[in-house]
Amino acid sequence: MMCAKIGLKEHKRLFLRIIYRLATDYRCGYGVIFASRFLQPMSPSIPDSFRHQGLRQQLVKELNAKGISDARVLAALGRVPRHVFLDTAFTELAYTDQAMPIGAGQTISQPYTVAFQTALLGVEERMKVLEIGTGSGYQACVLEELGARVYSIERQRALYHATRERLLHMGRKIKVYFGDGTLGLPSFAPFDRIIVTAGAPVVPQTLILQLKIGGSMVIPVGDEESQNMMRITRTSESDVVQETFEQFRFVPLLGQEGWRDSR
Ligand code: SAH
Repeated sequence: MMCAKIGLKEHKRLFLRIIYRLATDYRCGYGVIFASRFLQPMSPSIPDSFRHQGLRQQLVKELNAKGISDARVLAALGRVPRHVFLDTAFTELAYTDQAMPIGAGQTISQPYTVAFQTALLGVEERMKVLEIGTGSGYQACVLEELGARVYSIERQRALYHATRERLLHMGRKIKVYFGDGTLGLPSFAPFDRIIVTAGAPVVPQTLILQLKIGGSMVIPVGDEESQNMMRITRTSESDVVQETFEQFRFVPLLGQEGWRDSR
């Protein structure tokens, strides 16, 4: 009897997971809200076991060995349970240094990339930080762990709904918006920091204008195959300093000041 009950629950979860996946892939916001109402509460309650904590500390060591030396950034990554942001099918891989699918053809960035961008950003307590490309919400949580007041924009409606729900259930204060992030958030500008987590063809000028003087933006810029990580610091009303770092490969930044949206 007990087994039958558990079996039924598992079937329900599987059914909801399929609806959730289809709704995410076909960008059906209402479908995602419906399914996530039942599925998402499980995310925060997925236990952060000693095993997961151990794997996470291993990952932090690996990132350190790969050249990430900022202790605050490493500690922040050590506190955010990455497995909670992934479909349970990927739980076992959550603490490997790999990008992973999050639905709607998008990915959660590789932990090394998250650490690299976050370290370049130089986030201090209470800074107002804008993220373009909320995705799973993982990067946004890392920024919040560093004490930032985080605003994040996502252009995929289904992901926006699912991630907003997840972050709410996790008790996060991150403010998530739906829309074209290349246009920023004029009503909340200026920002101390802006981080773009999708590959841009050029640096969106609108985003530069939403930086405080002295503020900086970290953004991957290049073609669709590979991008150079860039840090743009606004030194006066009209001047910026540009620095170029390693190459990465991101999903494209689509929008008015990004790649044209033909998909
Ligand atoms: N930071 C995310 C990973 C981002 S993947 C995480 O931690 O999981 C890149 C995300 O950028 C995708 O979800 C994609 O839909 C989004 N994106 C692409 N162009 C965008 C735009 N113009 N505005 C907002 N989001 C955008």
